Amino acid sequence: MYNILLVEDEAGIQFANKAHLERSGGYTVRTAMNLAEARQSITESVPDLIVLDIMLPDGSGLDFLNELRQAGNNLPILLLTALSEADDQVKGLRAGGNDYLTKPYDNSVLIARIESALRTASKIPVSLSVGNVKIDTASKRAYVDDVDMGLNIKEFSLLEQFIQHPEQMLTTSGLYEKVWGQKMIKDNTALKTAISRLRAKLSELDAGYTITFSKGEGYYFEQV
Ligand code: CA
Repeated sequence: MYNILLVEDEAGIQFANKAHLERSGGYTVRTAMNLAEARQSITESVPDLIVLDIMLPDGSGLDFLNELRQAGNNLPILLLTALSEADDQVKGLRAGGNDYLTKPYDNSVLIARIESALRTASKIPVSLSVGNVKIDTASKRAYVDDVDMGLNIKEFSLLEQFIQHPEQMLTTSGLYEKVWGQKMIKDNTALKTAISRLRAKLSELDAGYTITFSKGEGYYFEQV
């Protein structure tokens, strides 16, 4: 049984979706009519997946999506939008949405998309390692030879990117977008600071790996 949080302000749609999901037998559904209720709901219990409407009375669902991703929360999110404009769909996916549905949609399509997002999420490995460096994506902790590196969430997310792409060039703007969940602004001091702290911790713990910078290209995670 999966727990779904359904964030939808149109009562009719909310009622129909909840009833359809619960009738299908695999889901329990909590509902929220707006962003305030959604924020409150996840502090009470973390769902397995969020179905998130974008146009809500107290703001945009995309803001809530950004908040969750910036807090390092990777739970699958399926966006609902009445806007068929490609722009909003792209924005939603860039912000870390897993998939989207354009209204009106069929309830059987909603279930198929939910199943697909849950399947994908369960395939994401929880633990990844390169050399002596290991990350646990569930607890957001990183280790060198089982010693906790004590990373903050941004440093952890950066390391997660590097560990997924060892010895490969990662651009400054690409890293920024992945980790901060938004387009890079001119001043990337935050990224530089996080990288230099991460580099110092790798060195301090003799990880055998470091982050090098190649001017005009980007960063590499490579063996010392
Ligand atoms: Ca709406």
